[in-house]
Amino acid sequence: MSSNEGAKWLPRKDVIIIGSGWAGSTLATSLDETKHSITVISPETTTPYTPLLASAACGLYEFNLVETPIRHTNKKIKFVKAEVEGIDCKAKTVRCIPAFDDLSVKDFVLQYDIVVIAPGSTNNTFNTPGVSEHAVFLRNAKDAMKIASRIQDCFEKASISGLTDAQKHSLLHFVIVGAGPTGVEVSSELSDLFSSSYASLYPHLKPYVSIAVHDVANQVLSGFDTKPQDYAIGSFTKRNVEVLTGSHIERVEKNCLYTKENGKISAGLVIWATGNKSTALVDSLPVKKTPRNPRILTDSFLRVYTPSSELVDGAYAIGDAADVEDARLPTTAEVECQKAKYLAKALNGKIDREFRYQQAAIVAYLGQNDGVVSGKKDYSGPQAWIAWRSKNFLWTRTWRQKVLIVIGWALDLVTGRSIAPR
Ligand SMILES: Cc1cc2nc3c(=O)[nH]c(=O)nc-3n(C[C@H](O)[C@H](O)[C@H](O)COP(=O)(O)OP(=O)(O)OC[C@H]3O[C@@H](n4cnc5c(N)ncnc54)[C@H](O)[C@@H]3O)c2cc1C
Repeated sequence: MSSNEGAKWLPRKDVIIIGSGWAGSTLATSLDETKHSITVISPETTTPYTPLLASAACGLYEFNLVETPIRHTNKKIKFVKAEVEGIDCKAKTVRCIPAFDDLSVKDFVLQYDIVVIAPGSTNNTFNTPGVSEHAVFLRNAKDAMKIASRIQDCFEKASISGLTDAQKHSLLHFVIVGAGPTGVEVSSELSDLFSSSYASLYPHLKPYVSIAVHDVANQVLSGFDTKPQDYAIGSFTKRNVEVLTGSHIERVEKNCLYTKENGKISAGLVIWATGNKSTALVDSLPVKKTPRNPRILTDSFLRVYTPSSELVDGAYAIGDAADVEDARLPTTAEVECQKAKYLAKALNGKIDREFRYQQAAIVAYLGQNDGVVSGKKDYSGPQAWIAWRSKNFLWTRTWRQKVLIVIGWALDLVTGRSIAPR
């Protein structure tokens, strides 16, 4: 009898996974279904491939390529479209609110043997007035779609006759707040889009287009070494992307933002990419957390502690929402997938050692087939761009998507981006 046949006779454990992002979905697809009854609870039915979102917003990939549904036909994962509002660790239950406001059921409770908390993080606006109302974020395929449509609107508005030069300059000034890897990649993709497809579609507007990246810090690409950071600044200069480090955003209003250093700056679109803050669920949970920008603090087996440092029975935390004691790991998909795969192996009974993060290379795209790689070995230029493209391919999970990614690259070369077909 194989070990799987043996497992069929043991009662399966009810595993509830909170969140359908990189962490939750990787765990759900890696758990052994013969040993676990897996339920994912999330208000989102898909997992976004976040590293591909900036490219999708700028027309390189179709939007359905940059996310994948959590429900699988060949994997027994139960999915509940709801938000978890609270966890009762003694009763081993989670209280959920359906993600629909037209249902008679307003809340419900589910029982678990094991709960894995992976609700990720949300956009950090640093309480800057007007950001939520007037800036756009980039977290999922819907956001990417919104950015694509707002960019096009700016160009169409600026094409209406009768506008002054100053009005055209304002409409076609694109501001990215945050010069971390996400902000850098968004600005690079925008610069590619404007210098290629949009330059052909809107040749009359070329002299009016500008991109600026603002960051309160004094460098770009935090998390990378100094050499790639300097290289990125040089690359921005070559592409006429203005970099304003030490820039303090005071507020964002309709079609403009105000900085302490430069006062009012008119802009057609402000993309806010300044990092993460904890979710309402993590804020409300009575568990041990990191002191600043709270994340759930786990031991090296990814188990959750009470505030008085006792282990909570059957509770684990992974993803951006959690950090490992004494590890201070960055909030990246790379880290979150490693944690999820480790936890799946541990729960499947395949390993009993502690979690150890294997340092992976970090890659950022800089536009025009250029990039930087850091983490293991630093390098830049076309090789780094190839590394970035290969990673794009590796991030996708289904063969269908992998094939479509390669077709997307080929079509981009032959027929141009989907928004500007030849
Ligand atoms: C634009 C962008 C580009 C990026 N590029 C890279 C990259 O190139 N390489 C890299 O390594 N990392 C990258 N990252 C970082 C990476 O995406 C994150 O580290 C990763 O998404 C974290 O995964 P997660 O599952 O913890 O959280 P998330 O992906 O944020 O998922 C959390 C899930 O939990 C759900 N949820 C929230 N609250 C609740 C609740 N109360 N109840 C139920 N469900 C809830 C959310 O709806 C969501 O589905 C990028 C991030 C962004 C935004």
